[in-house]
Amino acid sequence: MAQSYELIEHTYDTIVVGAGGAGLRATFGMAEKGLKTACITKVFPTRSHTAAAQGGISAALGNMDEDDWRWHMYDTIKGSDWLGDQDAIEYMCREAIPSIIELEHYGVPFSRTPEGKIYQRPFGGMTTHFGQGTAQRTCAAADMTGHAILATLYQQSLKFDAEFFVEYIALDLIMEGGECRGVLAWCLDDGSLHLFRSHVTVLATGGYGRCYLSCTSAHTCTGDGNAMVLRAGLPLQDMEFVQFHPTGIYGSGCLITEGVRGEGGYLTNSEGERFMERYAPNAKDLASRDVVSRSITIEIREGRGVGLEQDHAYLHLEHLGKAVIQERLPGIAETARIFAGVDVTREPIPIIPTVHYNMGGIPTNYRGEVVTLEDGNPDTVVPGLMAIGEAACVSVHGANRLGSNSLLDLVVFGRSAAVRCSELIEPRSAHKPLSENVCEKALDRFDAIRYASGDQRTAAIRLDMQRAMQNHASVFRTGEVLSEGVEKINQVETAFKDVSVSDRSLVWNTDLVETLELDNMIGQASVTIRSAENRTESRGGHAREDFSARDDKEWMKHTVIWRDDDGKTTIDYRPVHLYTLTDEVDVIPPKKRVY
Ligand SMILES: Cc1cc2nc3c(=O)[nH]c(=O)nc-3n(C[C@H](O)[C@H](O)[C@H](O)COP(=O)(O)OP(=O)(O)OC[C@H]3O[C@@H](n4cnc5c(N)ncnc54)[C@H](O)[C@@H]3O)c2cc1C
Repeated sequence: MAQSYELIEHTYDTIVVGAGGAGLRATFGMAEKGLKTACITKVFPTRSHTAAAQGGISAALGNMDEDDWRWHMYDTIKGSDWLGDQDAIEYMCREAIPSIIELEHYGVPFSRTPEGKIYQRPFGGMTTHFGQGTAQRTCAAADMTGHAILATLYQQSLKFDAEFFVEYIALDLIMEGGECRGVLAWCLDDGSLHLFRSHVTVLATGGYGRCYLSCTSAHTCTGDGNAMVLRAGLPLQDMEFVQFHPTGIYGSGCLITEGVRGEGGYLTNSEGERFMERYAPNAKDLASRDVVSRSITIEIREGRGVGLEQDHAYLHLEHLGKAVIQERLPGIAETARIFAGVDVTREPIPIIPTVHYNMGGIPTNYRGEVVTLEDGNPDTVVPGLMAIGEAACVSVHGANRLGSNSLLDLVVFGRSAAVRCSELIEPRSAHKPLSENVCEKALDRFDAIRYASGDQRTAAIRLDMQRAMQNHASVFRTGEVLSEGVEKINQVETAFKDVSVSDRSLVWNTDLVETLELDNMIGQASVTIRSAENRTESRGGHAREDFSARDDKEWMKHTVIWRDDDGKTTIDYRPVHLYTLTDEVDVIPPKKRVY
């Protein structure tokens, strides 16, 4: 039993963990509905990774040309490689339109068309007439859309009566009798520990890109919420589906938005060839991300990579001219100058496919409620627990996410979680009593890591994990490479048992923060690579060279995976929702609805 820690207790109707786009949209939505709401975040809200989103947010507004949310829905289902849940996709694409108008009214400074409407750009995989034409569907605030949205959502949260606990690290969920009753958190500023009790706890903790060596996401993207769910004995879903963005800057991993290709940018190989014309004759450079990432990887493998090591490709935007670059892509010009030393008006940017997004996460329904597979019911709701944003797997992105559908997912499901909470909770109603030792397991873990005194360094173990994931769960996978990877992750898990934390204090102890995050990441690396080894087909972001075809008969199902306290994993499956919420989607040509 750990030394005794004094806990400061708080009581709220709802607690949101995370202040990215998803967390903030849920936070003020709940506060607006009169629920006593707190938002806990490990970084200041506007520093969340959402701030880095560049390209934009999709919605079939039809401001540039004709559009229809049903086309958006079709594209999203197709982009998901038929693994997305169609009820949730219908909900997202339909609700996209009012959600964006709402953002506009909240004050998001979108770029404008000459008539003053929200400017929309083409993005990979976004089409009109069920794949016939190119849609201009992605609403943009220049190339800083995430920053603009996040700042606006934070302002809205301040307007309502939500309380913020900033630089608090959520450690574990408080579970009792299969229900979530709140969360345990550690305040970095003064080292105090806090028990937040709530009727509903919403995890909005983002993705876990940092499990990989080269990724576009912030250092904070360690998937803490996902790990808390695993520790609570609940499963994660579709973790094998990791999206590589085709254009991360070679060397640093910084993202160059797809919006660059939306504005007319294109890729070349060492022969100066625009090779995407060969792989995707119609969509070319705007083919979906998995297609472009794999094409670049093949070019490099076949000896047509650029640079000294012939291990990357070029992205050109010189031909767009200074004026367009200045107006539509100013952030990109700056990022390329700082991280690649390139003047984009004169030379191409060296790029390489880089981990960008986690399709997998905490399984939920379209209302944001966490679900699990219990007694044969694959949609069993876990009372008191919700998940939204990149941490969640709704699943609207299925096996592969279309660019600009994530920012949309954040606001649509953040809003939907707030609506659901207002249905479920009577504001300021009494909380169920908690048993005395309900925090014991969480405190034991915290204490054990705080006093860890082995001889392995956190940074060294983390690097081994990141290398194993980068090399063994990459753009292309084979059974052999994956099982070697599983072995390496086993070694990482063993090494962690011997980790050392040198700082024992509780105030701003970054050594302890990083070690807790590493523990969280190891759990996710483990379930990701094991799920990938288990799925013997190719679908969306999961490309197996030894099983190169999609196998709908065997594999049109969601992987769910549990991990117990000893690191042992168990896999089962949930069916894909192949039904819609309403009949309004019948316009999708029947032959295209039968897969
Ligand atoms: C570089 C980049 C560009 C992108 N561009 C686009 C784009 O143009 N369009 C698009 O649709 N998508 C884009 N994406 C994807 C999209 O931005 C992300 O999926 C999305 O922003 C994730 O938002 P979120 O709210 O789920 O989490 P995040 O924004 O990552 O926020 C997570 C929050 O959780 C908190 N948190 C985490 N762990 C803890 C803990 N233990 N305790 C307390 N708080 C915790 C953090 O403090 C933070 O506030 C991009 C992603 C990247 C990395």
